[in-house]
Amino acid sequence: MQITVLAGGVGGARFLLGLRAHARSLPEHPHLTAIVNTGDDAWLAGLRITPDLDSIMYALAGVNDTGRGWGRVGETERVSAELNAWGVGWPWFTLGDLDLGAHIARTSWLREGLPLTEAVRRLTARWELGVELLPATDDEFETHVLVDSDVIEGGELHFQEWWVRFRATVEARGFVQQGTATAAPGVADAIATADLVLLAPSNPVVSIGSILAVPGVHEALATTSAPIVGVSPIINGAVVRGMADACLRAIGVETDAAAVALHYGARAAGGLLDGWLVDESDTAALPALESAGIRARALPLFLRDETLGAAVAAAAIELAQS
Ligand code: GDP
Ligand code: CA
Repeated sequence: MQITVLAGGVGGARFLLGLRAHARSLPEHPHLTAIVNTGDDAWLAGLRITPDLDSIMYALAGVNDTGRGWGRVGETERVSAELNAWGVGWPWFTLGDLDLGAHIARTSWLREGLPLTEAVRRLTARWELGVELLPATDDEFETHVLVDSDVIEGGELHFQEWWVRFRATVEARGFVQQGTATAAPGVADAIATADLVLLAPSNPVVSIGSILAVPGVHEALATTSAPIVGVSPIINGAVVRGMADACLRAIGVETDAAAVALHYGARAAGGLLDGWLVDESDTAALPALESAGIRARALPLFLRDETLGAAVAAAAIELAQS
C-alpha cells in the first residue's frame, strides 16, 4: 500500500509521526511518501534554507526541539551571533549551529549541480525516517506576501519576513509564488500510484496552497484513482498554533474546519476532497460537509502525542476505505 501525504512543517511533522506509528502497527507496512512545501525556502547568508523539509526531517529523526517547537534539540547559536555582528543574513531569523550544518551540506550539493530532491535524499539518508520526503518542486518557487505599499515599500515581501519578522501582523492581501516551477521528479507519480492521498493538518494557504500551486500537482490530484482525505488544521474556530488565521483571512476563508474543507472543495464538484476529519468540538459541521459531498468524521484532532496521531491516521485510512 502506498500512502502519499501533502505536508507543511510543524503540523505536517506531527501528523507524519502519528501516521508512521500507525503504519508500523499494520501487518503490511504501507510505504509512506510526503510531498513537502518548499514555498518557505529562501537564500540566507549564502545558504539555501528549506524550513518545512527540515522540520519534518528533524521530527521524524527524533532530533527536533519539542520544547521550542522548531529546530534541533540541544541547539547553540554561536555562528548566528558572528553573522549578526557582520550584518549577514536576517537578524530576526535564527540559524542554529546544528541547523547550519544541514544548510551547508544542502547548499554544497546544490552548488555541485544536484537537484533539491537529491540533496533531500542525502540529508534524510542519515536516519531511518520511515517516510520518503519529496520536495514539491526542485525549482525556486518562493511564496511572497502581497501587502499595502504604504505599509511595506514595494507592496510585497518574502513569506519568511512576513511570518517571522512581522509575525503576520502586516495585513496580507494575497500570496503569490515567485518564478516558474514544475513538480519534482516522483511527485506526480507518488500521487498517481497512491492507494490513498492525505492532506496533513497544515496551513491551507502557505503550506498546502503552495504545494497545490506547483504546476502538475493539482492535475495529478484531480486524476488519481486514490481517495483524498484531509485532516483539519482548524479546531473549534481557531488555529492550533501559529498564525494560519491571518493567511485564511487574506484569501477570504473563515477560520473554521468546514470552511477550510469547502475551500479545498468536494471532489464530486471539481474540488480535491473525498473525505475530511474534523475535531470532536466541530461535530456540528458534519451535516454541511456531507451535503457538500465530503465524507466527514469527528474525533480528537489535537495531536498531543504519537498515540493520538496514530488514531487520527487510522481514522483517515478508515474514512478513505468506507
Ligand atoms: P508550518 O509550516 O510549520 O507552519 O506547519 P504546517 O503548515 O504543517 O502546519 C501549521 C498548521 O498546523 C497550523 O494551522 C495549525 O493549526 C496546525 N496544527 C498544529 N498542531 C496541530 C494539531 O495538534 N492538530 C491539528 N489538527 N492541527 C495542528
Ligand atoms: Ca512552513
